[in-house]
Amino acid sequence: MVYPGGVTALAGVSLDVDAGELVAIVGPSGSGKSTLLNIAGTLDRPTTGTVRIAGRDVATLRDRHLSALRAREIGFVFQQFHLADGLSAAENVATGLLYAGVPRRHRRERALHALDRVGLAHRSSHRPQQLSGGERQRVAIARALVNRPSLVLADEPTGALDSANGHAVLELLRRLNEEGTTIALITHDRDIAASMPRRIEMRDGRVVRDEVTAAPA
Ligand code: ADP
Repeated sequence: MVYPGGVTALAGVSLDVDAGELVAIVGPSGSGKSTLLNIAGTLDRPTTGTVRIAGRDVATLRDRHLSALRAREIGFVFQQFHLADGLSAAENVATGLLYAGVPRRHRRERALHALDRVGLAHRSSHRPQQLSGGERQRVAIARALVNRPSLVLADEPTGALDSANGHAVLELLRRLNEEGTTIALITHDRDIAASMPRRIEMRDGRVVRDEVTAAPA
């Protein structure tokens, strides 16, 4: 991946992630982790190379189909939550359904169910500013999982949280994984990385290590 301006952010990366995996992506700042996640999530197109999701080369999809695939199959979680301030928790979660073709009348119910799954049913009408950091991230996770995606991509999901809240968010991601969702997450936290069944280490736009530390459950 070469960004406009000539920065080569990824080079020679070949990576397979199987359904049901839980993968940590580690490496120094600027090593290409976010670029890799964005390309894997079809938010960015690689300059060269191929991205396949469920065996399908995403470059062959029209924009409309790509958006639909992204909306249905992939959930994103970001370090800074990216919630809309003016919307309640339930409304924020429901935005995850906008591009997935879910009729309006079903959105609220689905959003409430997703909030329930992250333990926040009682906070559904709160705005983000009325929630703690950990709760905000759980709302963001509810938004990511409201479509029941097969893949969740998380860019430093615990990076803005204290350790107790970070722990809760991580447990949530682990539980999602146990329920069958494939998860890739970027982390700077060595302990978190060490606790993941697979760890991919990046440096200067390359994968320099790819370790399976435990057999998948
Ligand atoms: P990491 O997530 O490991 O910190 P990134 O994938 O964000 O690394 O960045 C990899 C490299 O690509 C860095 O040198 C960064 O400055 C550069 N980069 C990232 N995004 C852009 C962009 N949109 N335009 C130009 N260069 C970028």
